[in-house]
Amino acid sequence: MKYTVAVRALTEFTAKQGDLDLRFTPAPSAQEGIAGHATVTARRAAGYQAEVSLAGQYKHLLVRGRADGYDPASNQLEEIKTYKGKFEAIPDNHRHLHWAQLRMYGWLLCQKLGLSEVRLALVYFEIGSQKETVLVEQYAATALQQHFDEQCERFLAWADQELAHRIARDQALAALHFPHAAFRSGQRQLAEAVYRAASSGRCLMAQAPTGIGKTIGTLFPLLKACPAQKLDKIFFLAAKTSGRALALDALAQIRQGAPTLPLRTLELIARDKACEHPDKACHGESCPLAQGFYDRLPQARQAALVTGALDKATTRAIALEYRVCPYYLGQELARWCDVVVGDYNYYFDTGAVLHGLTLDNQWRAAVLVDEAHNLIERARKMYSAELDQAAFHFMRQSAPAALKKSLDRLNRAWNALHKEQGQAYCAYPEIPPKFAGALQQAISAITDFLAENPTYFDSGLQRFYFDALHFSRLIESFDAHSLFDVAKEQHGGRDRSVLCIRNILPAPFLAPRFGAARTITLFSATLSPWHFYCDMLGLPQDTACIDVESPFTAEQLTVRIAGSISTRYQHRAQSFAPIVELMARQYRERPGNYLAFFSSFEYLHNVAELFRARHPAIPVWEQSRRMDEQEREQFLARFTPAGCGIGFAVLGGAFAEGIDLPGERLVGAFIATLGLPQFNPVNEQIRERMDAAFGAGYDYAYLYPGLQKVVQAAGRVIRTQSDRGIVYLIDDRFARLNVRTLLPRWWKVDWHSES
Ligand code: SF4
Repeated sequence: MKYTVAVRALTEFTAKQGDLDLRFTPAPSAQEGIAGHATVTARRAAGYQAEVSLAGQYKHLLVRGRADGYDPASNQLEEIKTYKGKFEAIPDNHRHLHWAQLRMYGWLLCQKLGLSEVRLALVYFEIGSQKETVLVEQYAATALQQHFDEQCERFLAWADQELAHRIARDQALAALHFPHAAFRSGQRQLAEAVYRAASSGRCLMAQAPTGIGKTIGTLFPLLKACPAQKLDKIFFLAAKTSGRALALDALAQIRQGAPTLPLRTLELIARDKACEHPDKACHGESCPLAQGFYDRLPQARQAALVTGALDKATTRAIALEYRVCPYYLGQELARWCDVVVGDYNYYFDTGAVLHGLTLDNQWRAAVLVDEAHNLIERARKMYSAELDQAAFHFMRQSAPAALKKSLDRLNRAWNALHKEQGQAYCAYPEIPPKFAGALQQAISAITDFLAENPTYFDSGLQRFYFDALHFSRLIESFDAHSLFDVAKEQHGGRDRSVLCIRNILPAPFLAPRFGAARTITLFSATLSPWHFYCDMLGLPQDTACIDVESPFTAEQLTVRIAGSISTRYQHRAQSFAPIVELMARQYRERPGNYLAFFSSFEYLHNVAELFRARHPAIPVWEQSRRMDEQEREQFLARFTPAGCGIGFAVLGGAFAEGIDLPGERLVGAFIATLGLPQFNPVNEQIRERMDAAFGAGYDYAYLYPGLQKVVQAAGRVIRTQSDRGIVYLIDDRFARLNVRTLLPRWWKVDWHSES
């Protein structure tokens, strides 16, 4: 059996040495990199061959890759590297790696063309100045072959280990049994659909109710599909920590049923949660865990892979034992683990590590997206950027003198943006090139300054720099999928503005991510209507959809409409009293634990106040703004099986989804809102754009996102097949046909109930 490896992956494994060095050398964006390569190759003479595919074998190792360019006339093979800033700032160990890569290509080319020697050129192209720095070395084919053989030999032991692991893994997965005695109702239907999607290489949207065991019901079929579909990796992506915990728990159950299963699983966590030295920078001169990182990585990697089940605590313990950074060790281990559990952003964000590795290594990856209804909002945030002029001014006051000119120029261009703007908020069809240019110049100046002053640290400058880089990257891809808006405000008697590139349609960014995976399953209890999610996320045309039958019966849940109450903004004050009486009546009918959801903290508080005044004997407690974890736990702790009272919360907040209060812990919910996003200039812009794109502006901007939240919140009531409960939908609009059709099919709504 052959082991196939890319030149880049092989050399990164064998030739990376020394420190981890992620100081302020901003990598060019993907577009800048592609444009830089194109500029260099366009400068070459006729006959120049770009993107030369090369492959060669060493024992049972197949090494392949694509060299950037070859000029037969001068017999020169080139590897192009784009960068920003000063050439001297490129760390030595990066250059060492680039040479190692190029020499590998050198031998593959000599072998392919029968050359006895070749000239190798490392072409460093600076994005800002468009200048090339070319390093050239002449090599005999024999020397290159020796280098190639040495690198391959060093990798071979690892490749053998990986091959053996893969064979053992696939054999064990083929024989793997479901860890429970039987599938739950609906769980088998879901598992079969996931397996079928993996077999046909399609995307799947699965709407499946809570309580059927979705996590294990999606992970298990993918594990079973691994051998036949030659899946390299499974990525389980969650929106919240609780989703990651469920996935790790499901994997632990699978292991319990098969204790010798040779499966490597990894939990990826955010940098700020994994960093051991938050006061330091990620390079060897600052952080001891970055110093000599690549020298100690091999032992740490080996120890981790022997362990196999790598949750956050295990990875940290290994990292500290070998004195390497836990965060970057996790990123390295993602290359070698079979199942990776992490946040959405590891696959969907700009520059996401799992997506990048999938492309580089041509992995056949299967992706699971947990609670996928969150992906629209999360993706919008990933592809949006904001610059705040008040923070910029604050930073400018203490900025080094060397940056004064470029920051002043940027400030002038910024002021010009809002000078003529009469209204507080305005969206524009394009980003003025003058501002974009000034921003780019400021970024270059800061880059140069930081390269020359590597120990300089100012948190304000650093924050602005990262924000500006993100903003300028999104300027490159700005299109109808995003808004550019300027919000004007007064600060100390002067106009200041907040600039935002606001993504509203993430589909163009996400579509290539769906395309890069062998199969992706998005699952959630609320994914309807299908077309809304398909359009917003950019799912492929042939995406399969399945609505898994609910294990719950209509008899378990009474759904009543309070159609005589309007919760519209203008009727809100009149709604307080009838809502209070409705809640009190229901409570007297069946005392127990209830949740009441409102559209805002203000609304929630007003109703809670009145409720306390009129019904002081009934306990109530309120969600407040910015509750920390402990406060959230205290809020939930009041929902005991023997408890009684009403918890007031906001729809779409921490208690409206992702919480589990089975049995008597929650017997009912009051939902006094349709959850419609606020009517404001931004949402109106979104409505207009959605209307232009899909002909259903109101539905896409307001109705669908709102009802999704209502159904999620109502879903807190029935968690198991023995639960019984009641939901009140409080607003006359719930009786409208376009709203009714968005409610779950298994609900039997009492349309004539009037409370
Ligand atoms: S420990 Fe923190 S500062 Fe050090 S390399 Fe890791 S992430 Fe960077």
